[in-house]
Amino acid sequence: MQFFIHYFLHFVFPFFIAFIFFRKDWKKVYLILLATMFVDLDHLVADPIFHPNRCSINFHPLHTYYAMFVYFVFLFLRRPFNLIGMGLLFHMLTDLTDCLMTYAKCTECLSDSPALKLIQVISTLGGI
Ligand SMILES: [Zn+2]
Repeated sequence: MQFFIHYFLHFVFPFFIAFIFFRKDWKKVYLILLATMFVDLDHLVADPIFHPNRCSINFHPLHTYYAMFVYFVFLFLRRPFNLIGMGLLFHMLTDLTDCLMTYAKCTECLSDSPALKLIQVISTLGGI
C-alpha cells in the first residue's frame, strides 16, 4: 500500500496538478513536474544506494532543508523555474509522506534519520 501511495503521488498526482491548474499546456507542465524526479539522482551518492527504511528527507543532498529553501525561492521565479520549484517541493512532500508511513509502522526504523525531529512533530500533531 505504501509503495502504491508513493508512486501514485510521484506519477499520477502531478498529472492532476497539471491538468487542473494548467489546462492550456498541461502536457508540458506534466513533463516538467515528472522531470523533477531526477532530483532522486542524489541517491546515487548514498551508500547503500537503496535502503528500504531510509527517509530521504534531510538525508540526501538534494533533499535537505537547505535545498528545499532554494526550491521554495524557485516558486517566485518565472517559468519554467516556478514549475520546477513546485515539482521539487511536491516531491519532498511525497517523500515525507513515505517517511511518515514508515514511522507509523516502525518508529525505531527511522531512529537514525536526520529528519527524525520533523517526523516526530508531524506524527504527534497528526496523531499518527
Ligand atoms: Zn526523493
